[in-house]
Order: sequence, then structure tokens, then C-alpha cells
Amino acid sequence: MILTTHALVGAAIGKYIHNPIALTAVLIPLHYILDTFRHGEYLGKKSTFKNTTWKVILDLLVGGVIILFAIYAKNIPSVISISIITGALISMFPDLLTVLYWKLNFKFLEKIYKFHQRVHKFPDDSKERLWTLRNAANDIIFSVIAIILLSL
Ligand SMILES: [Zn+2]
Repeated sequence: MILTTHALVGAAIGKYIHNPIALTAVLIPLHYILDTFRHGEYLGKKSTFKNTTWKVILDLLVGGVIILFAIYAKNIPSVISISIITGALISMFPDLLTVLYWKLNFKFLEKIYKFHQRVHKFPDDSKERLWTLRNAANDIIFSVIAIILLSL
């Protein structure tokens, strides 16, 4: 799923679980579970740093702005805010590992990379992985649930 979805889900759970170890234990598996749902990707095998960097930055900005706005609008105390931000970061961590393996060739990450690929049940070139509104449905649903949890 896109980074915004992972960040929002992590932030929402970080609002309710404040122990960083417990938060990590929930969020890392949850990242892979979310990735099993059908979702489109804006990057693929042919993506390069050059043509995807702006998309990743935009993706990070959208998630970040929503989370910071929720913290600000709900006047959330700083201890919980830190947990929310920590949750967002932990939740995106598996995708950082993918980038490190894929673009910087960190060989020791190969097993994690392969596992990450395997949870995506639709093959890379299938229509279920295309960047379309239909394929964004699950991202939208999970993001909306996360925003609701964040704003309760
Ligand atoms: Zn992922």
C-alpha cells in the first residue's frame, strides 16, 4: 500500500498504544497484512530514483500533513503525539527496507525483501497492481478508518 496509508494506520494505533515495543510488535506484522490486500502501486520494476522520488515525497507529505493536522486540531498532548509519530514511522519501516535492498543492494535484506514481495498476492505486472482508482479502494478505506480513529 502507499506510504500515506501505512503512516495513517501506524499513527492511529500509536494514539492508543504508547509502549514503543508493543507498538512495533503490532505494526510490523500489520504492515505485511495490509500489503496482502489488493492495492495499486505507483512504482514498479521500471521505476528509477529519478522518476519516483517526487512521488515518494508527495506520499510522505500527504500522510505527514494529515497526521500533524490531527495532532494540532485535536490538541493532542505531546506524549501521545510522539507515540502517534513513532507509529507512523514504524509502520512505513518495511518499505524503507525494500528501498535499501532494491536500490542500494543491501544483500542482507534479501530474505525480508522476498517475504515482502510474497505477501503481495497479485503479481507485479497484474492489473490488480496498476495505479488506478479501483485499486486504490483499499488504501482509501484503511486511510479513512485510520483518520476516524485518529480524530476520536
Ligand atoms: Zn509494504
